[in-house]
Amino acid sequence: MVCVRLILGDQLNEQHSWFKKVNSKTHYVMMEVRSETDYVKHHAQKVIAIFAGMRAMAEKLRQAGHAVHYFKIGDKQNRQNFADNLRQVFTQVKASRFEYQEPDEYRLDQELRHFARECGLASAVVSTEHFLDSREGVSQHFQPQAKRWLMESYYRMVRKKSGLLMDSSGQPLGGKWNFDEDNRKPWRGSPALPKPWDQRHNHAALWEEIERAGVQTFGQPSASDFPWPLNRHEALQQLKAFLERGLPSFGDFEDAMHTSSDRLFHSRLSFALNVKMISPKEVAEAAVARHLANPECISLAATEGFVRQIIGWREYIRGVYWAKMPQYREMNELNHQLPLPSWFWTGKTQMNCLRFSIGQSLSTAYAHHIQRLMVIGTFCLSAGVNPRAVEQWFLGVYIDAFEWVELPNVMGMSQHADGGFLASKPYLCAASYIGKMSDYCSDCDYNPKDRLGPKACPFNVFYWDFWIRHAKRMVTNPRIGMAVRQAMAMKPAEQLAIRKKADELRAKIEEI
Ligand SMILES: Cc1cc2nc3c(=O)[nH]c(=O)nc-3n(C[C@H](O)[C@H](O)[C@H](O)COP(=O)(O)OP(=O)(O)OC[C@H]3O[C@@H](n4cnc5c(N)ncnc54)[C@H](O)[C@@H]3O)c2cc1C
Ligand code: SF4
Repeated sequence: MVCVRLILGDQLNEQHSWFKKVNSKTHYVMMEVRSETDYVKHHAQKVIAIFAGMRAMAEKLRQAGHAVHYFKIGDKQNRQNFADNLRQVFTQVKASRFEYQEPDEYRLDQELRHFARECGLASAVVSTEHFLDSREGVSQHFQPQAKRWLMESYYRMVRKKSGLLMDSSGQPLGGKWNFDEDNRKPWRGSPALPKPWDQRHNHAALWEEIERAGVQTFGQPSASDFPWPLNRHEALQQLKAFLERGLPSFGDFEDAMHTSSDRLFHSRLSFALNVKMISPKEVAEAAVARHLANPECISLAATEGFVRQIIGWREYIRGVYWAKMPQYREMNELNHQLPLPSWFWTGKTQMNCLRFSIGQSLSTAYAHHIQRLMVIGTFCLSAGVNPRAVEQWFLGVYIDAFEWVELPNVMGMSQHADGGFLASKPYLCAASYIGKMSDYCSDCDYNPKDRLGPKACPFNVFYWDFWIRHAKRMVTNPRIGMAVRQAMAMKPAEQLAIRKKADELRAKIEEI
């Protein structure tokens, strides 16, 4: 029986059980197709990184003796979509069976299910063998009718089940589940930033192929000095370097931002993880092992903070995605309709925090969590930008943006478009938070202390306007009651002045 197996661009898991044995009757298919490059406009580095990773994986499989059919973006016989290319291979090798791994995106899941039904061959879908939990694991953990889920409850279950950071009596190491309180320091130049651990490649020839094929992208390609890993070996080197150099200070400065560094002590492992070069289990276990071997250098707080992102947030977000798609992508509980300002594509705004965070995203395809959530996300949420427009920007711009992880983070965590299902409170801040956690405000045209004058910081104006606008809905939420009550306690004239100022800013949003 001749079997054709499809490997998607984010399924670069060299350790998958598929590859344990070489079988001359099994043919692997990989393809660079316009249906994938064009469903949203992607950052140039994202397209390069995925194609380069796919080509490296194909080469590795060939060297191991597997039969690989690879469609490059510019190949004449490339029909630029999965179905037509697969049919070509089926005919060529006289296939009688088709297999694929569970896609992580709803769109592709639907497409491949349909194809498998229609293709006329026996077919099977298998696990990617990447995640700790199944697609349904998170929804099975909560009551089906619950109005909101809590990541913390799921995270504790995963800790107990995996034994990660647990002591021999089944209690969390250090007696606490969560050390978030310890992880909120600003970074003021010390300790010294670690030497970056990025891999460097020259992908100029690949970039030329992509451009020649007419793929539309945006952002800086950085093709000749490309900073993302190409394969598992490089991803493991990246992990090792992070554990040595970044993890010791990760916890302390997890929420910090600074103009002198786009990553501070963050790992930049999200690309390698999301294309499955490395697994969440091995990353979390390596971090815990590092802490246990050297607790003086790598604190429990830093380790727990990091592990929570991988085995808690990442898995939880995926579970929400599979439980709530496809309706989730259309949600807009706060009815926000402002168009996304055009400077999201140029970084040209006078707000220093946004100029820096968006500019960095356009040049590096990366921003760390707090820049995404508390700067870019806060601005969009408090100004009232349409969450779907925000979501499409996030899906295109980041190297790690795949819908299963990007969409719930944007619609749920950042834009509160699900009414608080995924995260119980809207994450937003005024200039005082950005000023405390970064050096952005010190060199800004706006005044971080003002909320009504001509140079008032837009974050202040929109922050208070948000609470005034949504007071009724928010006031009963114990996690945010104080901010709302403060807004409600303002004199009507002050409330009116803030609303007016916010409307003025919205009217000239392209110029602020
Ligand atoms: C609005 C918004 C959009 C986001 N979009 C994406 C996205 O498209 N793809 C993506 O992988 N992450 C996304 N995140 C989560 C997080 O910001 C990134 O995973 C992180 O910034 C990647 O950088 P890092 O590898 O240096 O992370 P680190 O800070 O070093 O964290 C380690 C790892 O933890 C995981 N992680 C941390 N937070 C989250 C989270 N909230 N959800 C899922 N995984 C998490 C990532 O795999 C990350 O690599 C988004 C967050 C927000 C607020
Ligand atoms: S003053 Fe306001 S706009 Fe300027 S950097 Fe600070 S928070 Fe951002």
